[in-house]
Parts: sequence; C-alpha cells; structure tokens
Amino acid sequence: MTVETLRNYVGGRWVDSASLNHLEVTNPATGEVLARVPLSTREEVDSAVRAARAAYPEWRATAPLTRARYFFRLKDLLEERFEDIARTLVREEGKTLDEARGEVRRAIECVEATTGIPSLMMGTCLEDAAKDIDTVAVRQPIGVFAMLAPFNFPAMVPMWFLPFAVACGNTFIIKPSEQVPLCQMKILEAMDEVGFPPGVVNLVHGARDVAEALIEHPGVNGISFVGRSAVARQIYRRAAEFGKRVQALGGAKNFLVVMPDADLGRTVPALITSCFGCAGERCLSGSVILAVGETYDPLQRRVVDAASRLRVGDPLDETVQMGPVISRRHTERVLRYIDQGLQEGAKLLLDGRGVIPAGSSNGYFIGATIFAEVRPEMTIAREEIFGPVIGIIPVRDLEEALGIIRANEYGNTACIFTESGRSAAEFVYRAECSMLGINVGIAAPMAFFPFGGIKGSLFGDLKATGRAAIEFFTDTKVVISRWR
Ligand code: NAD
Repeated sequence: MTVETLRNYVGGRWVDSASLNHLEVTNPATGEVLARVPLSTREEVDSAVRAARAAYPEWRATAPLTRARYFFRLKDLLEERFEDIARTLVREEGKTLDEARGEVRRAIECVEATTGIPSLMMGTCLEDAAKDIDTVAVRQPIGVFAMLAPFNFPAMVPMWFLPFAVACGNTFIIKPSEQVPLCQMKILEAMDEVGFPPGVVNLVHGARDVAEALIEHPGVNGISFVGRSAVARQIYRRAAEFGKRVQALGGAKNFLVVMPDADLGRTVPALITSCFGCAGERCLSGSVILAVGETYDPLQRRVVDAASRLRVGDPLDETVQMGPVISRRHTERVLRYIDQGLQEGAKLLLDGRGVIPAGSSNGYFIGATIFAEVRPEMTIAREEIFGPVIGIIPVRDLEEALGIIRANEYGNTACIFTESGRSAAEFVYRAECSMLGINVGIAAPMAFFPFGGIKGSLFGDLKATGRAAIEFFTDTKVVISRWR
C-alpha cells in the first residue's frame, strides 16, 4: 500500500513539498505508518511567509464582524466533521476516543470564543484626558504570526492561537508537530472550504529547521510556541534576538495535594483521570500525589487498586481507558525514569512495564506505574516524565506540600482535594502555579480564560487564549487629539 506524502497549505492551495527529507507518521497503538511528512525547505517557509504578508493588508482591513463570520462557518463545519477529526486524532496521537472527542470539543470552543472578536478587540477612550485633550486607544493587528505545536494535543493546542490571531486581523502560519500533523490538516481543509482568503492561514510541515526558519524570517512578527521547557527557553531567547513578540509555553511537573479531610470516594477517580488520562501526556497531568497526614496509607491502596483496573489497549476501542504513549523513543524515555525511580530507592507499587495489550504487539504501551516512598529530591519527583508514571510522597501538612510545589522548577498546575474552604483558600493564595484545581484533577481553563503557567512553564508574559491572546495578537495604539 502506498503511503500518502503530506502537502503544505500555502496561499490557499495544497502544494507538494520539494524536500527530499521525510519522516513517518505512525499510529502509536499499532506501529502502522499513516503518512510521510516532509521536512519542508527554507524556500517553502519563505513562500508561506510571503503569502501571509500579501494577504495581510486586505484581511486587516476586513471588518471584525466579517472576520467573525468566517469563524461561525468554521465552527459549523468542524461540528460536522467532529467524529472524523476525533478519530484521526486517536490514530495519530494514541489518546482514547473519549479523550479525543474532549480535545476536539476544546478546539471548537476556541473558535467559538473568537466569534466575539468585535467586542474583544474594542479599545478604550477618555474624553478630557487633559485640558481639551481626548485620548483613544485602539487595538490593531500586527502582521504575520507563526505557531510551533507540540505532539500531545494536535487538534486543540494550535487552536489556542490560530483563531485568536486571525480574528484579530493577522495572518498565520502553523507548523504542526511532525509527529502528529494530520488533525491540523483536517482543520485547514475546513478553513479552505469556509473560504478564508488565500494566504490568511498557511501550514508548513517540518521539524526544528522549519521552526528556526520561521523564527529567523524578517516577515514574521510573532511566535507562539508550546513544547518542552528546554526548547521553550531556547525559542524565547532566539525569537527575542530577532526582535519578535514571543510566548513560549513549556513543560510541567504537576502536584496533587490530598488533605486528610478529602472525600476519597470522589478524589481517587479524579486522581486517576489526572495522572493516567492521555497516558500521562498532558501538560496538566498529575505527576506526584502529596498525601497529607494519615491519608497516605488508604490513598496508596485505593489509587493502586483503581489504576490496576484501567483497561489499556487500542484507543479506537470504545472500552479502552488508556492508550499508548506517542513513540518508541518516548517509551524508552519513560522506562528510563522508572529505572531511575528504582535506583533512587522509591518503592514500585504498580509496574506498568511489559504491558502488551492483546493484538497490539507493535504499539508503544506502558501500563499505569505507581511509586510510593518517593522523596521530593528524587528525579521522578522533580522532572517531567510525560507518561503514566506517578509518585506518592507522604507529607506532614499543607505547609510542607506548598514548599515542595514552590521548590519545583515548573509552575503549570497544582490541585488540592479537601472539604475545607480554609485549606483551599490558603492553597489558592500561596501555590506557585498558574492553573489551580480545587477538588478537580485537571485544571484546564476554557477558551475565554488565559491558559499557561509561570516559572519554567512559561517563557514570556502573555498566555494563550482569553484576553491574554487578544493582547498578544494586537498592538495598542493610543491617539491623543486636540480639536476643541
Ligand atoms: P517539543 O519541544 O519536542 O516540540 C514542540 C515543537 O517544537 C514541535 O513542533 C517541534 O518540531 C519543535 N521543536 C523541537 N525541538 C526544537 C528546537 N530545538 N528548535 C526549534 N523547534 C523545535 O515538545 P513535544 O514533545 O512535541 O511536546 C511535549 C511537551 O509540550 C511537554 O513538555 C509538555 O508539557 C509541553 N506542553 C505544554 C503545554 C502548556 O500549556 N504549557 C501544553 C501542551 C504541551
């Protein structure tokens, strides 16, 4: 069977890449090769930037309400194709069907949020700001923005940026993750059918070289990046060097605090979904449980019991609760962390190594893995594993839990499980993370709130989605006038 070679979308047309270098896109549950993705050339990046620049003046001058109407139509088309996109997502990324449907819903919510662009983009004004002086501040688009996407949410993460940037009147280039480029192509196909003017949105396949070419290109005004912190830091530095706006969302190490008064009947299922949903490959996945006081023993037992019953397998099967991790290389990385946990003296309560679901011998599976007797200084308690491997640390009180969270280099999310308003309020006031959950295991802000962390989880100051996105994708021009 011949495998399709993916095309770029430039200036309103699907075009073959001239590149001689390709990577294979594989289904992580089966190892099946789904497509070949080109590592596009610098010339191809240049032609996408030129298309985006050419489309900018007219798009910028299109009334915000008219721009919003394209997104109303896009929403309808994405709803029609909802199941097709979700299934594509399962095949390329490996999350379960339910998780994929949730992701596509979240992607569409970003489109819905941007249909309010006429109100979202409004500026401010003040009559008599000084004697006989009126002052008006308007928001204007800036030009061409590019987005570099990670593998773990191929339908949703690019949509944290694309609709906001484009609704604001900018033009856009997306570089999907080379590991999972298929969903984004489906979304661009829908945009093409909606009839966005040629050049307003463009897609260029590739990996690091394409990312660098976009960052260095003088025709690109700003870069949105989501990926590992080591890369985010580098992108932030590099984009700043080229004088660009940049927001670089990085990795995470997320702590779940369980207080002695938590209702374990409700808490344990939330912990399981947080830690093992999407095979632990969420930037909001719980990674370390901080069990406060006497909750440590019963919690260990209940979490191990629930995790050991998770059904691992081909995520296209509706009954499967956990799919594979993204690649063989990533499996090896996660397995190294399990070895390291053992070497550093943690106690392995549940071992997910060697889990091979029936009929999936070529898939990249790791079962739920749980360490107890973990200490905060251990590697598995500090570094992002990004797989279904968690640790449980016994802590004396909330104070100690907050100290462990503070000492960690990341600051994406943290959650507390408690029946005490006082503990919850203390946690909200002091936890050094930007997305907090109270009796919620995945604290994911919806599209009208900002998404992003602090410390090593975000390089830049403006986050994704919500008003932060409007800030990032516009310049505020202030006009000071004296007519009277
Ligand atoms: P990654 O950093 O390997 O890749 C992200 C993107 O950057 C890809 O498009 C890739 O082609 C490109 N890239 C990789 N190395 C590069 C380099 N040296 N220079 C320029 N570009 C480069 O990330 P990933 O493994 O695809 O994604 C997983 C990571 O993303 C995890 O760390 C996860 O926590 C993070 N993530 C964070 C958030 C958030 O909201 N903070 C959301 C989703 C994922």
